[in-house]
Amino acid sequence: MQEKSLFPYENYRKIQEEIIKDLDKVLAEKNHAVIHAPTGLGKTVSALSPALSIALKKKLKIFFLTSRHTQHKIVLETAQKIKEKHKIDFLVTSFIGKKHMCIQENVESMNSSTFNEYCKVLKEEKTCDYYLNSKNKTKQKLALDELKILPPLHSEELKKKCALQKVCPYELASDLAEQSQIIIADYHYLFNPHIQKNFFNKIKANLEESILIIDEGHNLPQRAREILSSRLTSNLLKRAINETQKNGLDGLNETLREMLNLLNLISEDVREENEKVIQKTYFFDKINEIKNVELLIPELKIAADIILTKQKRSVLNVIAEFLELWPSGKEEFARYIKKEKENTQLVLSCLDPSILTKEIIQNSHSTILMSGTLLPTIMYQDILGFPKNTLKKEYASPFPEQNKLTLIIPSTTTKYVSRSQEQFNNISLIMSNITNNIKGNSIVFFPSYYLRDQVSEFFNEKTTKTVLFEQPGMTKEQKKELLEKFTKYKETGAVLLSIASGSFGEGIDLPGIIKCVIIVGLPLEKPDIETKTRIQYYDSLFGKGWDYAYTLPAITKTLQNAGRCIRSETDKGVLVFLDERYAWSSYKKCFPPDWKMQVTENYLPLIKNFFT
Ligand code: SF4
Repeated sequence: MQEKSLFPYENYRKIQEEIIKDLDKVLAEKNHAVIHAPTGLGKTVSALSPALSIALKKKLKIFFLTSRHTQHKIVLETAQKIKEKHKIDFLVTSFIGKKHMCIQENVESMNSSTFNEYCKVLKEEKTCDYYLNSKNKTKQKLALDELKILPPLHSEELKKKCALQKVCPYELASDLAEQSQIIIADYHYLFNPHIQKNFFNKIKANLEESILIIDEGHNLPQRAREILSSRLTSNLLKRAINETQKNGLDGLNETLREMLNLLNLISEDVREENEKVIQKTYFFDKINEIKNVELLIPELKIAADIILTKQKRSVLNVIAEFLELWPSGKEEFARYIKKEKENTQLVLSCLDPSILTKEIIQNSHSTILMSGTLLPTIMYQDILGFPKNTLKKEYASPFPEQNKLTLIIPSTTTKYVSRSQEQFNNISLIMSNITNNIKGNSIVFFPSYYLRDQVSEFFNEKTTKTVLFEQPGMTKEQKKELLEKFTKYKETGAVLLSIASGSFGEGIDLPGIIKCVIIVGLPLEKPDIETKTRIQYYDSLFGKGWDYAYTLPAITKTLQNAGRCIRSETDKGVLVFLDERYAWSSYKKCFPPDWKMQVTENYLPLIKNFFT
């Protein structure tokens, strides 16, 4: 079968052949797939080789969408292996965010909309030399020809080449993408409607002739919701007032002051850390009383353009974007106001990612959504808007079951009503009993920094190990440094106290380094207006509000956390779910069916026995 022939290795890994066969069929039938494929199956090559085979035959483009830069490298290496093994030629382009590709100075600190305006102004005023060189056909062709004979380059390497040749990396990558069969990019390039339209025009692509492979697909619902969500805050308005004052935009300055007064007025009865629902028409009517919104939006945009000719940042576009988004939809959005650390925030939060994803998926030739945590697959079909005949399949883990001990310890809980110093002490006691007896590193994941800090007070007194702490807002370098430090304790063992939704909850891949993962409590969303509205929304659509909006997203996080332990066939480790709720059938049934989970309070003999 020709489709299989592009597999670049001598032998298939366990289950890999089955995935490829399934995807061959999906692609041949122009169908779609939602596949739960645990770590170690070789998902990337299993999706890429059948997709490339059909893409070359039918002149399609493959968009490999991933939010992780490390994954770009894996796709590029896989593509190169396919080229070498099958002696075929095709082009690959890797895109990261345009701002991160830009080689102008000091753009890293700008937010996306400010950067986009900045780039637009530079291009219009013909003051970006890189862009001007890219528009010079001879210079651009020279750079492009050089690129085409090299092995596929990561965007970071492309940036270096462009800096030498003095052309714009984004422009060069776009020209290369027009001729490429594989394009690696962030979800934004396909799911942000403004970016997608311009991007597709630029690289002359269309959805009907595109295969989408969406990696780490469990993140897509949240990412799509974020694209359609926005907030107007008192801090933002204060910055806008300063900007307009400094630039002599008196009329707009007055309007922004009145908007700030309005925000203060409608939040007058909202206490700190509290929130209340705001009706769509109520807020817009009030804004219209200050100034006609139809006129205000272009005024903000023009003012932003003026400011950006003098300085590198302006927040006026962010306010314009909020006002444009606010009238969107009806019950698919939650609208509320809240106060947090003296910053009042008017929030527009999208509840339904399928507003963005459904049309894109259904118009594509084929979309393959894949991840090691896509359970249940029907939920992703429902909430992202995949058609009913989509292939949904759960593949088993290829790693030996005997290398993993999975325990539920129901002796404690982090349920809000049960929180107490005694409870925190009990949690720390179990944590220290386990980690003190593990030869090697452990990571403990908590639902929040607050709980982590409460428990760690007690834990520090009991542990015999070095304790490392994740901190909020760590930079890329700080994270790298912390993981390097943690790795050095491989033999003696350290305990990293981390957060379920934090920097280390997913994506870190340290084979042979982690012997134990403990998940304390359940990382459930706060029962706030947004969560409650989403529960109601999914109840009305699918009759599964609590599952889709509350329980399953939390279980997905814990499965991602647990997945940090066993990263290779030879890794051996203990997974501990520490909360009474994991033993309840409503939560236990959400775990992969092939997991052997033991509910026990007598955990130490089991752990000691497992490692002997
Ligand atoms: S045209 Fe290219 S190099 Fe110039 S500002 Fe925009 S992204 Fe940066």
